Amino acid sequence: MEDKLKLEIVTPYGTVFDAEVDEVTALGSEGEFGVMPGHAPFVTTLSVGTLSCKQGGQSIYFFVNWGYADVGPDHVVVLADSAERSEDIDVDRAHEAQKRAEEILRQTKEVDFARAEAALQRALARLHVKDQNNK
Ligand code: ATP
Repeated sequence: MEDKLKLEIVTPYGTVFDAEVDEVTALGSEGEFGVMPGHAPFVTTLSVGTLSCKQGGQSIYFFVNWGYADVGPDHVVVLADSAERSEDIDVDRAHEAQKRAEEILRQTKEVDFARAEAALQRALARLHVKDQNNK
């Protein structure tokens, strides 16, 4: 039986994380799920939100923007549209993105609401990951 998981988080912008960890918790489209070594294989879609892992007693938090997770007894491979480790999240940029999206959503003229809502969701999820990391 495996006692570690290889967690890989890959985006079109590059590999965000690639290392052995003890467990992974992620937000699937059906809700949060946890993976320990030896887990049965499955594939799921991921929502916008937090992914965390434990490595030697330390928790590491990530923002993940949609994607897929391929889970197996010895690995979790995440392919996401974008992702950042909490330390790499630029809070000012997320606040700016939040303000921009809220401004668009306030306007009554014809605008791309779905796009602004998605941008707002990403900004708030990034700020939430930062908060979780600081707890
Ligand atoms: P913005 O409007 O600020 O570009 P966004 O949500 O549209 O935000 P994404 O399309 O999710 O950005 O990501 C584009 C690239 O920018 C990715 O490499 C992502 O990791 C990075 N990125 C976006 N926002 C931040 C942030 N607040 N901190 C660090 N990296 C970010």
